[in-house]
Amino acid sequence: MNVAPGRRLRELESLYRIIDRLGDRARVRTLTTVEHGGHRFPIHAVLLGSEDRRDPTLAVVGGVHGLERIGTRVVLAYLHTLTELLGWDEVLQAALERSRLLFVPLLNPVGMLTRRRSNGAGVDLMRNAPPHPDGNPSFLVGGQQISPRLPWYMGAEAEPMQPEAKALCELVRRELFEARLAVALDVHSGFGMVDRLWFPYARTRRPFPNLAEVYALKGLLDVTLPNHVYRLEPQARNYTVQGDLWDHLHDLHREHAPGRLFLPLTLEMGSWLWVKKNPRQAFSALGGFNPIKPHRLRRTLRRHLPLMDFLHRATASPDGWAYPDRASRERLAAAAFELWYA
Ligand SMILES: [Zn+2]
Repeated sequence: MNVAPGRRLRELESLYRIIDRLGDRARVRTLTTVEHGGHRFPIHAVLLGSEDRRDPTLAVVGGVHGLERIGTRVVLAYLHTLTELLGWDEVLQAALERSRLLFVPLLNPVGMLTRRRSNGAGVDLMRNAPPHPDGNPSFLVGGQQISPRLPWYMGAEAEPMQPEAKALCELVRRELFEARLAVALDVHSGFGMVDRLWFPYARTRRPFPNLAEVYALKGLLDVTLPNHVYRLEPQARNYTVQGDLWDHLHDLHREHAPGRLFLPLTLEMGSWLWVKKNPRQAFSALGGFNPIKPHRLRRTLRRHLPLMDFLHRATASPDGWAYPDRASRERLAAAAFELWYA
């Protein structure tokens, strides 16, 4: 792999160790490579489980924003545990015969290398999808086209999508759109005091079409892990964003896979709590987005394993919750509306 000596990314090295250990139990793809400083950095996907794309599929994505190293590490922590389990756990082996797991642990390697939120071109990948006419973005944070030197830059108008964003969209279309149920978890950090689970839309406060299903998933999470730490809510309750890749992919899925279900979720880890407990870290570039103290890092790496395991189980066993009959669907949607939009 052509990674510059001395400029290696620890996260990529961890991924390669896991890939070696997985051996032929995984299908590994290089989605694309991105250039920085005369070297090319790969973006990898790792697929586990059934080879039938119609089977329920959970995708776990990290490192969209280069500053948020902890997101990639949380994804790698889950992949590490699965790798070890696959060596002996017959329950997991059986579950993966009829379900699929897809990982993109590090979508923005150049951003992580250069300690920037954006990619190498200064573009915020989570603002880089085509703008939607319904979009009503918050000022600046919702995406801007003033300058790539400011955060939240969407890219120039009419310019094609950035290679990282394009690679993710193509992968999701290829590997998730045929699945009878697809769930995605995109892991971020940097907002708020609590860990949030966001669902679309990001671009508007209007309700999104799968309210009933996301409310059913919330019900399942609440009874299965009654002491979980997550606040599940529409992203737009916090701020609105133009160019969100998951909004875009959900739109495409509705258009191209009618009758099938795709629930993209974002885990937004509440990094302000780490800063509050260790105020000095606010003065470093990474400190606003990552746990710095070793015990807090370890706590964060284990904290989300139950959620990811739950999501795999819920995805692999959709019949009890993901396809409510018409009357239940109306009831669930009404309850969801009352909770999140009234
Ligand atoms: Zn982020």
